[in-house]
Amino acid sequence: MSNTSSFAVERHPTPVAASERATLLENPGFGQLFTDHMVTMRWSEDAGWHDGKVSARKPIEMDPATAVLHYAQEIFEGMKAYRIEEGGSALFRPDRNAARFRSSARRLAMPELPDELFLEAIELLVETDADWIPPGEGAALYLRPFMFASEVFLGVRPAKEYLFVVIASSVGAYFKGGAAPISLWVSHDYNRAGPGGTGAAKCGGNYAASLLPHGQALSNGCDQVCFLDAATHEYIEELGGMNLFFVMEDGSLVTPPLTDTILEGITRDSLIQLARDAGHEVREEPYAFAQWMEDAQSGRCTETFACGTAAVVTPVGTVKSEKGTFTVGDGAKAGPTTVKLHQTLERIQRGESNDAHGWVKRLGES
Ligand SMILES: *Cc1c(COP(=O)(O)O)cnc(C)c1O
Repeated sequence: MSNTSSFAVERHPTPVAASERATLLENPGFGQLFTDHMVTMRWSEDAGWHDGKVSARKPIEMDPATAVLHYAQEIFEGMKAYRIEEGGSALFRPDRNAARFRSSARRLAMPELPDELFLEAIELLVETDADWIPPGEGAALYLRPFMFASEVFLGVRPAKEYLFVVIASSVGAYFKGGAAPISLWVSHDYNRAGPGGTGAAKCGGNYAASLLPHGQALSNGCDQVCFLDAATHEYIEELGGMNLFFVMEDGSLVTPPLTDTILEGITRDSLIQLARDAGHEVREEPYAFAQWMEDAQSGRCTETFACGTAAVVTPVGTVKSEKGTFTVGDGAKAGPTTVKLHQTLERIQRGESNDAHGWVKRLGES
């Protein structure tokens, strides 16, 4: 690609004033405070990718017959830009998000956005709204690229027009209370994904399917729902939006293998590498729920944690299901391996420690 940008930049005529922004950034919450700008780009069968721009963030006007509203042809990504110590900001493995966005697009029969356009859109938005990256531990600019079928048509077939959008949200720590363990409700009634389905794609439809069991987790006093495999209901898969790791007494780690029912987390992949770097054996192998319960009770499984971009690493304490309740470790605080891996990863993401794998992409100072 040449040096000319694929995106026109139309700055917000009346952005939020610096003093007001500073007040808002003191307590940003998660996913409720948005920046001044957004990126958009269109795709049509005739014109391909076109009309890229950065412009003032505003509502998207839609015809009621827009395809996504009826058949949910939509995919998304989640990534973070961190403020780094020596100034400027950094993205963590953005090339992996670009590649995953293309593979999600393939599964949902959507056009693949070339990686260089995905990355340019992300970097432009972070540079334009860099002042919205909150200061403080656990804080970041959460980026939400997404794409949906924008064609006005009620027939059932892949749409012929799509809109790609990137918005950004200033966020604090995902789970209030930081590293306090979360509780899981293991669903024996519902599955997140089935063989041959869309479980490995990052699409809104998977989340829609997870909301009823998530509500059941909440009404059982738990924070998150943990899904089992749809075929046998025996093996642990993942949470609605996070992968799982189990730490064994001998220091080895187990995580469910990537199948078409598990989302290939970039945090998961990074932690496998960091754990191996630190001398842990990591096995990607099926782990049965009954085995987990037995191992937690016997002390063979000493720690369990969930991971994903939003919450990074979150310890699991209490586990409930209709088959009984148990705790992992003492249930009250994160175990040492969980804490160590969390810190190692966060320090790399924030540019505070050696980036041996070349994962951090630094962006210019604002
Ligand atoms: C996004 C997501 C994850 C975590 O992926 P990361 O790349 O680590 O953020 C895990 N499971 C599901 C279902 C997801 O949608």
